[in-house]
Amino acid sequence: MSRNDECVQVIVRCRPLFGKELAEGRQRIVEMDTSRGEVVLKNPKASHPSEAERKFTFDRIFDWNCTQREVYDGAAARIVDAAIEGYNGTVFCYGQTGTGKTHTMEGKDEPPELRGVIPSAFNHVFDAIDGSEGRNYLIRASFLEIYNENVRDLLAKDQSKTCDLKEDPDKGVYVKDLTSFVVKGVGEINNVLKVGKKNRSVGATLMNADSSRSHSIFTITVECSQRRAGDPPDAEPHITVGKLNLVDLAGSERQAKTGSTGDRLKEATKINLSLSTLGNVISALVDGKSSHIPYRDSKLTRLLQDSLGGNTKTVMIANLGPADYNFDETMSTLRYANRAKNI
Ligand code: ADP
Ligand code: MG
Repeated sequence: MSRNDECVQVIVRCRPLFGKELAEGRQRIVEMDTSRGEVVLKNPKASHPSEAERKFTFDRIFDWNCTQREVYDGAAARIVDAAIEGYNGTVFCYGQTGTGKTHTMEGKDEPPELRGVIPSAFNHVFDAIDGSEGRNYLIRASFLEIYNENVRDLLAKDQSKTCDLKEDPDKGVYVKDLTSFVVKGVGEINNVLKVGKKNRSVGATLMNADSSRSHSIFTITVECSQRRAGDPPDAEPHITVGKLNLVDLAGSERQAKTGSTGDRLKEATKINLSLSTLGNVISALVDGKSSHIPYRDSKLTRLLQDSLGGNTKTVMIANLGPADYNFDETMSTLRYANRAKNI
């Protein structure tokens, strides 16, 4: 298998220092050699030269000068192609709050160069199917979030309800009564995203919750029906179904820093449970020797079970902040990413 065909790929992206950080005179402690895939993290508090820096190597890294298009082409496009071909795939953004997960996944509507993975995937899917002949496609979209190990349908009329996970021998694990819209074009699917985003913030306000603590999953299902050359005219068409999950994970920061207590602490434990379970699942998959993959240990991994491992493709984009005051979190993200990558 070539490097590009591996089922799990880990990519690191570091955002630029932003205005406030520059104004405060923050130092950049991340160095990247993009041609070698090397990330060096310098420890601003090192008391001994042996602790001064730590080097990590990844298949592909993106520094603060990269464009949204480069990230899409280098990280997400092959997963979207696979979904169009009938395979399941997942793109995750992992990282501390404020490191650019939402910028990577959603970006900004205008100018078009700032669009993130999700809207770029919409264009990619509809461009691909508009240019295909002899195939009929049905595209469906759903959008949910997992907050505190509860699943919320971001497209449901009633936003006060949570949804149950069900399991079925044929369908596998699925969300009961999850809304799914058939979409005919980029305009329609963009509207679905817009409605879901709005519900997400309304729900967050109602529950006095912080959306940085929830995982959001936008899923595009691509069903293709095709008659093959040479099939008799009355033959059943050949059908493939690919599923693409675009996941903006909850912030990975340790909650101690924000002084959580009571409910907030319980919540933090659950967020960390799904992030650590995801790390365990991915590392068991890339290790390839484990007979047990702990999908069942969190809602997130149960729900994505049919799109993680096996005959599927996954990319994990680990987002970093470059500033000195984020050293501990940046180190923790690099360790998480390092553990998830192929050896
Ligand atoms: P997260 O979703 O991880 O909490 P955001 O995506 O909201 O982080 O990013 C935090 C801030 O940094 C936003 O103002 C965003 O526009 C900005 N930002 C993030 N990544 C980049 C980037 N690569 N280039 C320019 N600005 C960025
Ligand atoms: Mg975000």
